[in-house]
Amino acid sequence: MDPVKCCGLCEPVKAASQQVPSYRLWVCDECWQNAENGWAKDAEPVLFAALASAGLLIPDRNEQGLLPRAYAPPSDYAL
Ligand SMILES: [Zn+2]
Repeated sequence: MDPVKCCGLCEPVKAASQQVPSYRLWVCDECWQNAENGWAKDAEPVLFAALASAGLLIPDRNEQGLLPRAYAPPSDYAL
């Protein structure tokens, strides 16, 4: 029995469709797309909590001073 995943960032909560592996967090499409250049500042407390509960390190900020959407070598990274 898999509970329905909910977006970790939306208020009110929406159904999540994307897992963010770097943060072990589920988000909806809209939040995922909005985070293309980094997560919104509003989302940081949720992201830090997700990282802490998964025992993960906090990633370096990107050029915009935001937390990157993914910080492991991403699947779209082409050599
Ligand atoms: Zn969302």
